Amino acid sequence: MKTDVIVIGAGFAGLSAAISLADKGFKVIVLEKNEIAGGRARFYQEQGFTFDMGPSWYWMPDVFENFFNKFGKKASDYYTLKRLDPSYRVFFGKDDFLDIPAAMEEIYKLFESHEPGSAEKLKAFLEQAAYKYKVGINDLVYKPSRSVTEFLDPKLLFDMLRMDIFQSFSGHIRKFFKNDKLLRLIEFPILFLGATPENTPALYSLMNYADISLGTWYPEGGMHKIIEGMLSLAEEKGVEVLTGQEVKEFQIEQKSIKQVKTTTATYTADIIVAGADYHHVDQHILQEEYRNYTPAYWDKRVMAPSSLLYYLGVNNKLENLQHHNLFFDRDFGPHAKEIYETPQWPTDPLFYVSVTSKTDDTVAPEGHENVFLLMPVAPGLQDDENLREKYYQVMMYRLEEITGQSIKEHVIYKRSYAHADFKKDYHAFKGNAYGLANTLMQTAILKPGLKNKKLKNLYYTGQLTVPGPGVPPSLISGIVVADEVEKEFKLV
Ligand SMILES: Cc1cc2nc3c(=O)[nH]c(=O)nc-3n(C[C@H](O)[C@H](O)[C@H](O)COP(=O)(O)OP(=O)(O)OC[C@H]3O[C@@H](n4cnc5c(N)ncnc54)[C@H](O)[C@@H]3O)c2cc1C
Repeated sequence: MKTDVIVIGAGFAGLSAAISLADKGFKVIVLEKNEIAGGRARFYQEQGFTFDMGPSWYWMPDVFENFFNKFGKKASDYYTLKRLDPSYRVFFGKDDFLDIPAAMEEIYKLFESHEPGSAEKLKAFLEQAAYKYKVGINDLVYKPSRSVTEFLDPKLLFDMLRMDIFQSFSGHIRKFFKNDKLLRLIEFPILFLGATPENTPALYSLMNYADISLGTWYPEGGMHKIIEGMLSLAEEKGVEVLTGQEVKEFQIEQKSIKQVKTTTATYTADIIVAGADYHHVDQHILQEEYRNYTPAYWDKRVMAPSSLLYYLGVNNKLENLQHHNLFFDRDFGPHAKEIYETPQWPTDPLFYVSVTSKTDDTVAPEGHENVFLLMPVAPGLQDDENLREKYYQVMMYRLEEITGQSIKEHVIYKRSYAHADFKKDYHAFKGNAYGLANTLMQTAILKPGLKNKKLKNLYYTGQLTVPGPGVPPSLISGIVVADEVEKEFKLV
């Protein structure tokens, strides 16, 4: 089969690249290893429950809207969004929690009640964060980061100086707030970036603007509705998405990939965009002489955490839980060390619980709850059923204790997911869940580059290259790579 472009992987980044390229006039096919599209954002159904397998927080609605607008569409053409209020609940202990309201006035009151004077400080903090978001999300993240010269624009340099790129997030927020609960609340969105607040540039307070000012949303039916929307748009653009097609090998001639071989077929194309995990394509599909990086390079990368997940079906309605619940009833310091500094299974972990059936009747049978447990854990660890079960008991004990109800005996469906599954399902390097961490030394041009240095027609997209991990950055990554392909392979 002959096509202009082959995109490898039907995750957010691959689909975004495929749609963007088809919109520019390229003929595109997507080859996806799994039986359904969506990558880490796949879903499955079991015993009347519908489980989103990965992302559950819909943040930065403007990025999704801009994505669909680019193709003359609106997000609402494909799915219906609901703003969550409260956005989420943070537990600090039994009968000790904060609900984060959607309305700004309520948030200011909440801050003031914990630290007098902090409402004004939050206003000032968010004003800076809004500026960073505007420059960061509307401009910087769309840079392909192939050369420093992209950043040598006097206005951009001036903007970047104001964006605290060289200051740590941790130090930055402590100039504004002192109260421990408020600090933990403000630090929480940084966990999405896969690094500690100490190792994350203060630029990323833009995440607080996303959290507090832009809010937490939910696409009715679940996060996979976004993928379904993208698949419809891809089809409208003439993209063909072929599932069950694991790419195994490239046939290379004169510094160009000529053929892509999957487990069952061979495809010919002019351009290849790899949306599968970068490390897997670089180290396991490409022959050694065409690799961008060495094994030593990859070993030195700071990967974002892996996760231990549990998908649970519960046969009664649960009390005292919201749609999103963060269990911050332990100090994050030791858990963070066990993720980043001395990788090991945590001694006393923090975890997250999502109960989507609190918002959505369609994801669980009547009178039941759909529960998702997530515990961040270092990548590259030993993973077996006994370890998983041990942490299930830890999380369940605290969940029951803190919310004051028995849950375990009501669990009628239970499935675990961790390192071994991330490797098997996505070829994830060290079983990572969220790609490459957004540390200062892994920002922009310091990330694995989006073009192969030795082959003329191989590009990369997704959460291990620019701009970084998370659903919105993955969408942007696909747009950025498509623009680069267009620049170098103009259609005649
Ligand atoms: C548990 C979890 C929770 C998360 N929570 C959030 C959240 O709440 N909000 C948020 O914004 N982000 C969240 N994220 C991060 C977000 O899901 C990812 O950043 C994003 O989905 C990555 O998209 P991607 O396209 O880069 O990669 P992927 O989704 O992994 O897509 C890559 C695709 O390539 C395919 N592939 C791999 N190898 C091959 C091959 N050889 N041949 C063909 N295909 C191949 C894979 O099967 C996969 O479909 C979460 C991630 C996880 C895992």
